[in-house]
Amino acid sequence: MPDTFTPPVIPTTPVTPAILESLRAIVGDKGLIVDDAGKEPFVRDWRGVLAGNAAVVVRPGSTEEVSKVVKLCHDNGIAIVPQAGNTGLMGGATPYPAHAGIVLSVGRMNRVLEVDTVGYSMTVEAGCVLQTLQETAASHDRFFPLSLGAQGSCMIGGNLSTNAGGVQVLRYGNARNLVLGLEVVLPNGDIWNGLRSLKKDNTGYDLKHVFMGAEGTLGVITRAVLKLWPAPKDVATAWLAVRDPKAAIEILSEAHSASEDNVGSCELMNRAGTDMVLRHIPNVQDPLKAETDWFLLLEWSSSRPRSDGTEGMSEKMEQFLADQMEAGRVLDAVIAQNEAQARNMWVIRESVAPASRAEGPGLSYDVSVSVSRVPAFIEQGMKAVYDILPSIRPYPLGHIGDGNIHFSFMGPKGMDRATLGQYSPAITRAVNDLVRDMGGSISAEHGIGIEKIDELAHYRSKIELDTMRSIKRALDPKNIMNPGKILRL
Ligand SMILES: Cc1cc2nc3c(=O)[nH]c(=O)nc-3n(C[C@H](O)[C@H](O)[C@H](O)COP(=O)(O)OP(=O)(O)OC[C@H]3O[C@@H](n4cnc5c(N)ncnc54)[C@H](O)[C@@H]3O)c2cc1C
Repeated sequence: MPDTFTPPVIPTTPVTPAILESLRAIVGDKGLIVDDAGKEPFVRDWRGVLAGNAAVVVRPGSTEEVSKVVKLCHDNGIAIVPQAGNTGLMGGATPYPAHAGIVLSVGRMNRVLEVDTVGYSMTVEAGCVLQTLQETAASHDRFFPLSLGAQGSCMIGGNLSTNAGGVQVLRYGNARNLVLGLEVVLPNGDIWNGLRSLKKDNTGYDLKHVFMGAEGTLGVITRAVLKLWPAPKDVATAWLAVRDPKAAIEILSEAHSASEDNVGSCELMNRAGTDMVLRHIPNVQDPLKAETDWFLLLEWSSSRPRSDGTEGMSEKMEQFLADQMEAGRVLDAVIAQNEAQARNMWVIRESVAPASRAEGPGLSYDVSVSVSRVPAFIEQGMKAVYDILPSIRPYPLGHIGDGNIHFSFMGPKGMDRATLGQYSPAITRAVNDLVRDMGGSISAEHGIGIEKIDELAHYRSKIELDTMRSIKRALDPKNIMNPGKILRL
């Protein structure tokens, strides 16, 4: 965030002692956190970059309690910051320093209410941890595909509110594609019950899509009906040293038919990113000690169990990799021989964010372009950034099958955060201008939050921004629901 950032104007009506007692009457003592030490984890962001304030953290235990809390705030003009696992990377869940209202945490609402194995769906509360939902589905021989590095602590309410992406989008779509129905508490406290488990429902505007990706600015998601899939039974995971990003895209393009439409994930990393993980994350092994710059984590999976005598995913992949080596795209490759080896490959990919936090200050841009333009974007983007700061250390990575690149950089060795911050506006403009010129998006999956509020205003048309403001004003005329996030009103 540049030093020049001016925070948006937000309502600052204080929580009086009388309102605090009313909140206590709704959620009880166990649902309130008022001491500074207790509030601390709720007013800082995961990266340790942003910090704000809240009069109180309110932790309701049910939709009815959320509704009463929101109504009380609405009637008194008190601002609310909805929060789930607090792993968001754009500051959407972090209150501003001027925030005088509440943080509303859904963490206590963590029940799986129903698993429908025949209808392939499950109904859950917003505070369920993502990994718990994956495990619940697996225990019923089903699969919930949303998967990302923060899955041990992020919660489904936050995943849906950010329309999270992750490493299975290629095959299953992003979070909004995994939802059949939603329940939402609106900014006036009304409960919208859209908890339908219908695959087809063309009855007017599809309201659930208004709330997904809204980052808590339009209401509080309290429950959801999620789609399930058959559990994968035959999985092949491989770590490939590839010639360059262009080869990586071509490999993916060929992999679809070679795998018989079974590509699950395709993740690009470079040597610098891999080495950073090996430096900071314990018990991780380098799958390939290849002296090459680019790697691809490729996973194929099928719900058909392996049976003796038939060719499984690994055999198909082995043949495919041999062909790709002959074509000069793959330089070396290893297929995981057991779950531990596959897990090790995934830990490398998923540990880039924590490793970069340990490494020092950096800059990261979560952007997307059309899949075939990924190589040109990486090449031109790196050149543009090197022109501004030649000693910066790039480690681009990402879900390249979705055209989503985490265009990431560590600051030059020894450079502190403040000095790097002086280069940040020029680098941000260069990267995002290139994204625009290539017809891409300045936020592929992390959202807007606080961090990209001015970038969104810079790159989106007036008509688009005005339409978003109209929706916000219609649902939240008092601007109490996560004010100052996504848009300046
Ligand atoms: C290590 C790491 C890896 C990550 N990898 C990915 C990745 O691959 N793909 C990806 O998309 N993201 C990724 N993220 C970002 C983050 O995990 C996701 O954005 C996640 O979906 C946020 O969930 P959360 O529960 O932590 O939400 P929070 O951070 O608590 O909230 C996120 C936003 O949603 C709002 N919100 C939260 N709960 C509700 C609710 N119940 N109702 C309404 N609004 C609500 C908040 O106000 C905020 O604006 C990663 C983060 C980390 C730390």
